[in-house]
Amino acid sequence: MPNYARPPYRIKMVEPISLITKEERIERLKEAGYNPFRLKSEDVYIDLLTDSGTGAMSHFQWAALMQGDEAYAGSRSFYRLEKVVKNITGYKYIMPAHQGRGAEQVVIPELVKKPNMYFISNIHFDTTRAHVEIAGARAIDCVVEECFDTETYYPFKGNFDVPKLIEIINEKGAENIAGIILTITNNSAGGQPVSMENMKEVTMVARANRIPILIDGARYAENSYFIKLREDGYQNKSVREIARETFDLADIFLMSAKKDGLVNIGGLIAIKDDEDFFKQCQINIVPKEGFPTYGGLAGRDMDALAVGLEEALDESYLAYRIDEIRYLGDLLRAGGVPIQYPTGGHAVFVDCGKIVPHIPYDQFPAQAVSNALYIEGGIRPVEIGSLLLGRDPDTKENIKADKEFMRLTIPRRTYTFEHLHYVAECLINVYNNRDKIKGLKFTYESPILRHFTAEFEPIE
Ligand SMILES: *Cc1c(COP(=O)(O)O)cnc(C)c1O
Repeated sequence: MPNYARPPYRIKMVEPISLITKEERIERLKEAGYNPFRLKSEDVYIDLLTDSGTGAMSHFQWAALMQGDEAYAGSRSFYRLEKVVKNITGYKYIMPAHQGRGAEQVVIPELVKKPNMYFISNIHFDTTRAHVEIAGARAIDCVVEECFDTETYYPFKGNFDVPKLIEIINEKGAENIAGIILTITNNSAGGQPVSMENMKEVTMVARANRIPILIDGARYAENSYFIKLREDGYQNKSVREIARETFDLADIFLMSAKKDGLVNIGGLIAIKDDEDFFKQCQINIVPKEGFPTYGGLAGRDMDALAVGLEEALDESYLAYRIDEIRYLGDLLRAGGVPIQYPTGGHAVFVDCGKIVPHIPYDQFPAQAVSNALYIEGGIRPVEIGSLLLGRDPDTKENIKADKEFMRLTIPRRTYTFEHLHYVAECLINVYNNRDKIKGLKFTYESPILRHFTAEFEPIE
């Protein structure tokens, strides 16, 4: 495959997977209430639900697990992790959390100092949005228009819309903005990167208005690699240098380590230099996540993470990672399937609004296509559209997403190009039979983060 990067590793351990029959898939999906989240993983052949904690660890990480120090307080594993994170970020204060949302529940309430405050992000990730709302604030998304033009190449579709950001700050009042969150890469926009130039503009606006700057950096290494590939002036910088330049812009770093930490569980909080804020978070973390030197993780988890953070900055790893996604995207485009183009960092986002225009947004077009793909090939994707967005907290109406995406999320170091080829074949078959796909209606809906547990039936 001359146009794609070569894999920088080989397989040392295998995990068998198998494809149940089509009749069984139809039955299992019905039992799951037509919600792929509710399927058993044994009933899935290729699992593209998420890249979160689903990747393969290296033999160095497995070896590091054996070195875990399980002391409740001050474990050696914590100091090993702290050293690595300080080295990468340049930040002074580090706390582990059990995963990204653990970090969010500790930090976000500390920034909400009064009622009616707002967070502004390029696009808030779903759990981030939930923690903003639980803390009594509101989440405003502020992404560039190019993000919604799925067919046109634009190198940084994850960027903030800076003029709009300034408008929002002026309208709401700077004193009412609890924080500006740089979500890198921009997960909900298609794993799309944010340019360094854009992050610099955003942080200048934030500084001028004395608003704290957070990085929601689950995929900061992938974002840094895209900057190296696509942004002028960065070709000769290392990914590590680009990452450091990114961290220099912000005050607080929150991370789901289940992504670019290359571990199955873990999260991080890093605070640049504000000692008082760190102390507040230290108080908050104890009842929520655990003592500040373990934050919900076993000692061994911290050792594996210390190694994984370094491996994720390896540029031969990143080249192959990004090209796996590009490969799947190229096959789908050749088969006529509309996707967010160019592909981003961790997934191919399929534009289901264009595939099933006969299904209205509140019958969840991308969920319907996801179900069809499971029945076709035992593949489990995830909906990133109106189902995920939920209801307006004030009016309780279903919010209409700008894009009805189905995300084919690629776990790290897990599937081969053959697996991805199979996925493309199955989805092209679904695409060619798209007229038969039907919308969905709820038979159960939970009030918060409904997509995880909702149940449906097809509308005949
Ligand atoms: C995954 C993710 C989170 C939440 O992290 P969890 O580890 O799933 O709790 C937050 N923000 C972004 C951008 C993410 O991708």
